[in-house]
Amino acid sequence: ESVRVSEFAERIKKPATEILKKLILMGVFVTINQEISFEVAEKIAEQYNILLEKEVKQEREEVLINDFEDKEEDLMPRPPVVTVMGHVDHGKTSLLDAIRHSKVVETEAGGITQHIGAYTVDINDKKIVFLDTPGHEAFTAMRARGAQVTDIAILVVAADDGVMPQTIEAINHAKAANVPIIVAINKIDKSSANPDRVKQELTEYGLIAEEWGGDTICVPVSAKTKQGIDTLLEMILLVAEMQELKANPNRPAKGTIIEAKLDKGRGPVATVIVQKGTLKVGDSIIAGTTYGKVRALIDDKGRKVKSAGPSIPVEILGLAEVPNAGDILYAVSDEKTARQISEMRKEKERQQYFASSSKITLQDLFSQIQEGKVKELNIIVKADVQGSVEALKQALEKLTNDEVKVRVIHGGVGAITESDITLASASNAIIIGFNVRPNNMAMQLAEREKVEVKTYRIIYEAIDDIQAAMKGMLEPEY
Ligand code: GDP
Repeated sequence: ESVRVSEFAERIKKPATEILKKLILMGVFVTINQEISFEVAEKIAEQYNILLEKEVKQEREEVLINDFEDKEEDLMPRPPVVTVMGHVDHGKTSLLDAIRHSKVVETEAGGITQHIGAYTVDINDKKIVFLDTPGHEAFTAMRARGAQVTDIAILVVAADDGVMPQTIEAINHAKAANVPIIVAINKIDKSSANPDRVKQELTEYGLIAEEWGGDTICVPVSAKTKQGIDTLLEMILLVAEMQELKANPNRPAKGTIIEAKLDKGRGPVATVIVQKGTLKVGDSIIAGTTYGKVRALIDDKGRKVKSAGPSIPVEILGLAEVPNAGDILYAVSDEKTARQISEMRKEKERQQYFASSSKITLQDLFSQIQEGKVKELNIIVKADVQGSVEALKQALEKLTNDEVKVRVIHGGVGAITESDITLASASNAIIIGFNVRPNNMAMQLAEREKVEVKTYRIIYEAIDDIQAAMKGMLEPEY
């Protein structure tokens, strides 16, 4: 693997001449148009890194100032943030629309809900916030970036179709994130609806309906006739109450960007869900590598507001660039600080292009166990038939010993997909494919996310490898 000097210079945004000088000092004599090995490029990147370290520390301090733990007495109840998940065509979008229309339009005289990526509904004097991008992919992609905004997952299962592959994925993604699940059994207006069959199928995945002695709330609904929607909303509030969701509204804001785009007229706009504190017009902010000063805040009804407290989604105007979904937003002391942090982060990002990651690999599993860094080995199993998934799952989980718990967080039939990679990345898991391979997109993503994917054709070889890795006896790969 090698890279052209000019291209490398561009990537790390450093003058090529400066890099050539460093190369000469290392005894590497090349021209701008020649290639250097990745190894050498990495060394150069490291040299820049050392200079950076001091600045990065400064940044961390600045952000930490705003990331302090709140005192118990400062915490106040906050509304739950809800994500809708489920198999395609089971009615996620319809359900979100039904909730929005039944609760929002009637109360807001003439107020048309704006699409800002999330919306709020009022029930009596309580609020619920719904994320408007349904599906576990967006949910886990955010989690992979270190952001978790969802408090409750609504699992939509069509009563006439039952549990389907993406239903199972959604369950496992929600479980991996430790987010409680409420099941909405949808389309009960249909004559072919069979809610009991859905409940029956869900038991196989550890979701036992309350009425059957379990602790999973299942609400029969119809997004079409709006039947059961009110009950569903009540159940969300009930679960939220049990979670005792709280945050301190009286501190500088911390939140997560859930959507962002470049608007022709208004410039970069981003929707943030505030998680702590209160975001105000005039605040200096940093979000990922971008920064700005809040020029205006717009709520989900299109109204200009002066501030937004915990759980409340608002659109922000005033960022210099478009941030990424999943970026964490902080209000900082002043705009100059915001700009400096942004510049440092950009620099760091460039360097990280060559930095190694701390994702788990079988090769260094043992040393990580020894250092106490790993207590759980999360595995995703994909295979060509369900029987193999089950066999592997059982055999792998049996490898659990005093030091490490082996946990299969997701198992499924079919090729290894991008969704599997994202889940692995978010959960620090490795992926085992049995008689299946990653598709092209998944392979690229795995490389980028540095997720380890191992494929096997013989079950005991997979088991042997994991066992050897746990003991630090894995044959090195060349
Ligand atoms: P999504 O892919 O999960 O977002 O599903 P959609 O919301 O797009 O719904 C898929 C299809 O199911 C659409 O044709 C909807 O009109 C239909 N649908 C959704 N909810 C219901 C329902 O409660 N009853 C009936 N009869 N059809 C529904």
